[in-house]
Amino acid sequence: MSRSTLPVTRTSTPTDDARREQILTNPGFGVHFSDHMALVEWTPDEGWHDGRVQAYGPLSLDPATAVLHYAQEIFEGMKAYGHADGSTWLFRPDANAARFQRSARRLALPELPVETFIDAIEALVRTDVGWVPRGGETSLYVRPFMFASEVFLGVRPARHVTFCVITSPAGAYFSGGVKPVSIWLSQEYTRAAPGGTGAAKCGGNYAASLLAQQEAAANGCEQVAFLDAIEHTWVEELGGMNLYFVHADGSVVTPELTGSILEGVTRDSILTLLDDRGHKVVERHLSVDEWRDGVASGEVTEVFACGTAAVVTPVGRLAWPGGEARNGDGDTTGPVTAATRSALLDIQYGRAEDRYGWMHRVR
Ligand SMILES: *Cc1c(COP(=O)(O)O)cnc(C)c1O
Repeated sequence: MSRSTLPVTRTSTPTDDARREQILTNPGFGVHFSDHMALVEWTPDEGWHDGRVQAYGPLSLDPATAVLHYAQEIFEGMKAYGHADGSTWLFRPDANAARFQRSARRLALPELPVETFIDAIEALVRTDVGWVPRGGETSLYVRPFMFASEVFLGVRPARHVTFCVITSPAGAYFSGGVKPVSIWLSQEYTRAAPGGTGAAKCGGNYAASLLAQQEAAANGCEQVAFLDAIEHTWVEELGGMNLYFVHADGSVVTPELTGSILEGVTRDSILTLLDDRGHKVVERHLSVDEWRDGVASGEVTEVFACGTAAVVTPVGRLAWPGGEARNGDGDTTGPVTAATRSALLDIQYGRAEDRYGWMHRVR
């Protein structure tokens, strides 16, 4: 366990214990934040400097701050897991750090060293370890992000960049037990095009997906599935989750990475877990017709989505204007989906041996 090098200045107004316990009992998602945040600054002359943990609070931004105009911004999403013995762990933080560097490159932001990324998160989670919810499928959601903080309206990569980490206690994603979701097939909108930013985790991709998400909600669906931008044929992913398709012979297919699909850490971990459980796992192109017809014929027995926030989410129904395809009654979680979900959660919560070296102890 490496000791953090970030100096910590504790808040003079910490949340009182009773209030914090009240929040941790029913944290929701993304609405409550811990008492501190981590910050590191970058300029071309000084490189990364002034790393610190300080009181959580508003950032004061000049209206001409570049990110507000040109969206030069990237982020990550991770969780700190409280284990039954009181210890606290991260899941594959090196994978998130590496992806953060790839995202930075694409958005012409400076790459943050892997050690600095992990150091900042460790220092913050240790400082706010009292904010890690314990019990059930709860966690402390960790949100690292980096943005163009230079005050300048010219169009070029910023010469002042800020890296920040905040944390937010998160309850079980499915409070009433795992429930299959409905997916809307976007006809009109795409999420990412070849040469674009689809493989980078940036706010702009999310902004571009919101209108389609709104359309999904208006059609009674929780999520949107996006197809490739050229042929409108190949299944890419959801707005913030990757997809898996279980076939009748036990083989499992996930769309291969094309450069416009976000490379999920959960997606990658599930490739390994399924392979170890004896499934044939294939990364390849999969058309929306194969999805629709496969579900109808019984060739595709289960569909699930995956990502850090919801872990593994069964997909019960794919809907489009004038039609739908249901997996069974559309309301049942299939056996491969359920087993994959448990296998991953058991490692993350320390209930099963971590044979892959994925878990990283913070405290
Ligand atoms: C973050 C994200 C995912 C899931 O990635 P994980 O590392 O598994 O959390 C999938 N798709 C998109 C577009 C994302 O932004």
